[in-house]
Amino acid sequence: MTFDELNLVQPILRALHEEGYTTPTPIQQQAIPHVLDGRDLLGVAQTGTGKTAAFTVPILQILSQTAKLENHSHSRIRCMVLTPTRELAIQIGESFAAYGRHLPLRHTVIFGGVGQTPQTNALRRGVEVLIATPGRLLDLMNQGFVDLRHIEVFVLDEADRMLDMGFINDIKRILPKLPTSRQTLFFSATMPGTIQELANSILKPNPVKVAVTPVSSTADTITQSVYMVPKNDKPELLEHILQDKAIKRVLVFTRTKHGADKVVKTLAKANIPAEAIHGNKSQNHRQRALSNFKAGNTRVLVATDIAARGIDVDELTHVINYEVPNEPETYVHRIGRTGRAGADGKALTFCDEEERAYLQDIQKLIRREIPVVSDHPYFSMFVVPVPLTGGPAIQRPKGPAGRAPRPARDGRSGDSRSGDARAPRTGGAGPARSAGSTAGRSESRPASGGGRSTSANSNRPAGGRPASSGGGNSSPRRRFRNDGTGQ
Ligand code: AMP
Repeated sequence: MTFDELNLVQPILRALHEEGYTTPTPIQQQAIPHVLDGRDLLGVAQTGTGKTAAFTVPILQILSQTAKLENHSHSRIRCMVLTPTRELAIQIGESFAAYGRHLPLRHTVIFGGVGQTPQTNALRRGVEVLIATPGRLLDLMNQGFVDLRHIEVFVLDEADRMLDMGFINDIKRILPKLPTSRQTLFFSATMPGTIQELANSILKPNPVKVAVTPVSSTADTITQSVYMVPKNDKPELLEHILQDKAIKRVLVFTRTKHGADKVVKTLAKANIPAEAIHGNKSQNHRQRALSNFKAGNTRVLVATDIAARGIDVDELTHVINYEVPNEPETYVHRIGRTGRAGADGKALTFCDEEERAYLQDIQKLIRREIPVVSDHPYFSMFVVPVPLTGGPAIQRPKGPAGRAPRPARDGRSGDSRSGDARAPRTGGAGPARSAGSTAGRSESRPASGGGRSTSANSNRPAGGRPASSGGGNSSPRRRFRNDGTGQ
């Protein structure tokens, strides 16, 4: 199914196309037609399933088709999305901004913990869509800044988390202020009795029910492995791994567009042809890069998650997570690109110290520990994985001054007195085996935090080398400037 089959208006189709979306996700396929029909909806879906677009897109269409936009200063709040956290509120605002960029609808996001003036200014100027967390909303309602009497569509997002966070009383105070003749969309990742009761009290009888099963299992045909590596060594590790000619067609994931471009540049310097696809590239460029990759002319394709959604390439031998995704479901999506139709695939994940918590979340979701490959030249014992079962996050050997020794590195603070944890880069331990082919083999050890001493005898060659930088760390979602205007 394509978005064209969902009866969406041109400005929205165009925006989705610009986002690089080609196929609606299952929750979008199921929900969008019913929301467009004006039905109430009970959606059981987690973050990562595309649920935000499943409600944002049809709401934009509903509001745009009946828009009274001649006089913006008299616009009324016609849709409200209530969500538990500031981060979610911002992300939802970004979605409205992205999918509604060709529509003359305005939105704003309000949440606590920041000054209220930019938010009240935006409300005064007028918005059709309000995205809010419960506490700040009540605050501003009590001060008379928010009028909910004209709400046509109300969305309660992440209802289970709302209850966990103790927002139930706030919600009960907000609900009576909404018109009863509204359309309501209720989303929750889980549906225990208390949530079902809340849903019954908010939705009209017999709402449409849609549920998508969370992605939590990884195909057995995919061999997974983790490379614990300092962030600055990721470019070299990638180069090293790509020396293995057994890696025929590899998709490298970065979190950001900028990170993707950087990886391509690094590989170009090492004479490894690679192309990047992401939202900043023209449609032509993306298509060309993809057909080069499919035809086998380019061995390495570097992509951000959003751009990669539309990629359907058979015979992908490897997926490399150059950066650990911060949403565990994204990991499952990413590695599911290889090992298709029973074919063997390998998924390699580069994890630096800051990313260990993300790795732990992934291991919890897939309910298994991903084996760690330690026999590569950039292995760092300082980047030990957090054990799946919790426990001490990291135990560093004490240095002479009673603090953890750090590898001395150019461009980084370090303690040059102490030995390095990494295996020798060249010589010493013999030729480093190709990482691609060792992935998941018996050299790997469980990510238990044990075995940290495996590299204790390792020596680092004297001297350092210029630190090269890894991919960027900024959020890929920063389309939206939260300046209170929502634009
Ligand atoms: P959500 O579950 O709403 O948090 O969405 C997860 C991610 O998927 C977000 O980064 C969206 O931008 C992206 N996304 C949502 N729908 C699609 C789609 N149909 N195609 C590609 N990416 C999508």
